[in-house]
Amino acid sequence: MVRPDGSRSGGGSLETNPAPRATPSPEESDPADSITNVRETTAPGASEEARSDVLLLPRQLFDRMVAHARAELPNEGCGVVAGRHGRALSVYAMQNAEASPVVYRFDEREQLQVFNEVEGKGWEILAFFHSHTHTEAYPSATDRAQAHWVNPVTEEEVPAYPNVTYLILSLMDWDRPVLRAFRFEGGEPVEEEVSIQ
Ligand SMILES: [Zn+2]
Repeated sequence: MVRPDGSRSGGGSLETNPAPRATPSPEESDPADSITNVRETTAPGASEEARSDVLLLPRQLFDRMVAHARAELPNEGCGVVAGRHGRALSVYAMQNAEASPVVYRFDEREQLQVFNEVEGKGWEILAFFHSHTHTEAYPSATDRAQAHWVNPVTEEEVPAYPNVTYLILSLMDWDRPVLRAFRFEGGEPVEEEVSIQ
């Protein structure tokens, strides 16, 4: 939970991520271990640096996110946050290919375009964001499913983008949009810190 002054409440602050290993070990059987260390993601930069403990989001980028989400109503709005070392440098407002008030999906071509642009700038994908139009800023069952893929060998559900934070922006209260950040561990959302500055 982010308050207007940028401080936060809620869980996640006690969670720490182990340092990433140089080489992923897909054969490992410990689910927790594979979740925190698997590096299948194709998001630019994700394999180069350890993720930061807190996502720093400049106020103007937060405002841009809110403006995009409001403009997309009645549907969910979505996009990508890119930056360096945990600090957001750009918010990419993207189209919701589902054009739905309850789910979102990036357009594949646009996603590729954005990923390429981010990589070209030497940035990394820090977060995916989407809005909840009438519900709280907490991952839905669909959000959880979308954030995972099933390993065909182990049949384990693993995070599709283990280094990417999932930001959810609730527009439930029009005047006070609420932004919360999550990653997934063992299929469950774990709140992370996002600081709006
Ligand atoms: Zn959602």
